[in-house]
Amino acid sequence: MGEFDLIRRFFQRPATPGAGIHAAPGVALGVGDDAALLAPAPGMHLAISSDMLVQGRHFFADVDPAALGHKALAVNLSDMAATGARPLAFTLALALPQADEAWLTAFSAGLFALADAHDCALVGGDTTQGPLNLCITIFGEVPAGQALTRAGARPGDDLWVSGSLGDARLALLALQGQLALPPAALAVARQRLERPTPRVALGLALRGIATSAIDLSDGLAGDVGHLLHASRAGAVLYAQEAMNLVASWASPMGLEPFLDDETRLRHVLTGGDDYELLFTAPTAARAAVQAAARASATPVTRIGHIDASPGLRLRNAQGQEGPLPPVASFDHFRA
Ligand code: ADP
Ligand code: MG
Repeated sequence: MGEFDLIRRFFQRPATPGAGIHAAPGVALGVGDDAALLAPAPGMHLAISSDMLVQGRHFFADVDPAALGHKALAVNLSDMAATGARPLAFTLALALPQADEAWLTAFSAGLFALADAHDCALVGGDTTQGPLNLCITIFGEVPAGQALTRAGARPGDDLWVSGSLGDARLALLALQGQLALPPAALAVARQRLERPTPRVALGLALRGIATSAIDLSDGLAGDVGHLLHASRAGAVLYAQEAMNLVASWASPMGLEPFLDDETRLRHVLTGGDDYELLFTAPTAARAAVQAAARASATPVTRIGHIDASPGLRLRNAQGQEGPLPPVASFDHFRA
């Protein structure tokens, strides 16, 4: 199978026909020409983000290819969610050690299942032989002036987070044999690691409500730091609410206390790979946040508040504030 055969068979679909045919909303020209053409609606800004996944760094060589296809797009959709942008289209740059049909079939099925769920068309890319490596660039649209950014959190705002945190890291440690999880907890945690749910609908529903947002890829402690830096503010995190965000710990079969409070808190703060939204909103907008959560069928939890004194502090169950335990978020050039 040659390069162009491979592209035609696995990445060019009847749904995204080539030259001259309108492929999908917002897409004027898809796969097959020298460039794709996007047609964002008038008054819209184009939101653009890239994420690269490297074997041995972001996934194991033997990872389920369907899950890899899902995750490669999910991490990019998550950036659209954090921007409050509606995904339009994406490109896929792919280096493959060999043209393995079974692998490509599963990978493209996982990729397109998520793409279709979000009406996001594959409009181009590049394919080359080499060590397995994938890079997706995603394009979305957001009304000019309405994008959610990391700046904009104000003292007094509530700090909210969607879904659950810490489970992806727990799954990773379990798969590496560094930690034992009860089977039911591992199943929950592994799903979070391999098939994260990008919170696109929540991001859209939070336009005009949230004052700032970021998606959590490298651990809460580090990512909230990026938001605080951009907003020039500080924050207090509620330890009890934060540690209860570990979904696998609360899973029905996982009720035996296999993780102590401190361990749960550490994985919530430093875990990474969660792809949840962290966002701020004024206290007066609590009902609006809850309505956005219901409308997007996404659970949200209030886990802290913004204040004017710089840095991040932790409030314990007794209401006492103290420094964060020494934690580090993920950094490719330090880890
Ligand atoms: P060019 O040489 O003009 O850059 P290529 O020959 O690399 O184009 O690719 C041919 C067409 O296939 C282009 O439309 C390109 O965007 C598309 N394409 C290449 N690889 C992929 C891929 N992995 N997924 C989707 N489209 C791809
Ligand atoms: Mg060309």
